[in-house]
Amino acid sequence: MKITGDSRKLKDFVSALRRKNRTVGFVPTMGYLHEGHLSLVRTALRENDAVVASIFVNPLQFGPKEDFRRYPRDLSRDAAMLKKEKTDFLFTPSAGQFYPEGFQTEVSVKKLCLPLCGRTRPTHFAGVTTVVMKLLNGVRPDRLYLGQKDYQQFRIIEQMVHDMDMPVEMKMAPIVREKDGLAMSSRNAFLTDEERAQAPTLRRALLKGEALVKKGVRDASRITRAMKETLREASLARPDYVEIADARTLSSVVRLMPGQKALLALAVYFGKTRLIDNILTVVK
Ligand code: AMP
Repeated sequence: MKITGDSRKLKDFVSALRRKNRTVGFVPTMGYLHEGHLSLVRTALRENDAVVASIFVNPLQFGPKEDFRRYPRDLSRDAAMLKKEKTDFLFTPSAGQFYPEGFQTEVSVKKLCLPLCGRTRPTHFAGVTTVVMKLLNGVRPDRLYLGQKDYQQFRIIEQMVHDMDMPVEMKMAPIVREKDGLAMSSRNAFLTDEERAQAPTLRRALLKGEALVKKGVRDASRITRAMKETLREASLARPDYVEIADARTLSSVVRLMPGQKALLALAVYFGKTRLIDNILTVVK
């Protein structure tokens, strides 16, 4: 596995593959890798001739009061994990290399950024689209691999790729979970033992909501009320939002419609740690 923060070396590597008509899959991450990230890498390896992964804790996507400084980092462990999977190339730019003096462009998708996580993190998604646009221009992959865990992020990037005619195929991978149902996340490392023990309640609340949708309940507020009730079983949990949204527009749903693809989504604080999770379901 080649590993470098030098974007010219990245370009040379990908250009050489392109000349040989090889396909490239790309897995962008912020590191502190877990099985969720590795599942993306494995899928990308199956579907492409070569895989580029990136590790970059992107300062642009953190708000001023968020956890940029304390975000967990362990590059040597991450590199060993990616090497073991037979990742071809690991791109690890520094913030100074990636956003040199004078950098001033922002890429943003107007409406999809506003609901759900956008309400609490108003600058987050513009940071994400800016970094992903720049990474995609550097890697020029055939396929981009993202997790359903960050479903709003997936939809926003999908919209950007569509609107800007970017020649990349979007691939969404399912959420990888711990045995007790908690969605894997680098931020789980911040949880105290007590918080960690309560964290699977997020998944239980989502499953409660999904069960009601499957039972034929159409009133979204009735479903979210039941989900919030489940969350109350976790005494340390402070819900940020619990919502049912249309999976395409991400706008809030009042009444579910037959055939509609719905997103049941929530964000919950445990202390300073904010966890997210979701379920996609098609209404019968
Ligand atoms: P991050 O390092 O948190 O920015 O995540 C990098 C990529 O991994 C994103 O596309 C995430 O959606 C994806 N990802 C994170 N956690 C999981 C998980 N538990 N299962 C599947 N994909 C995940």
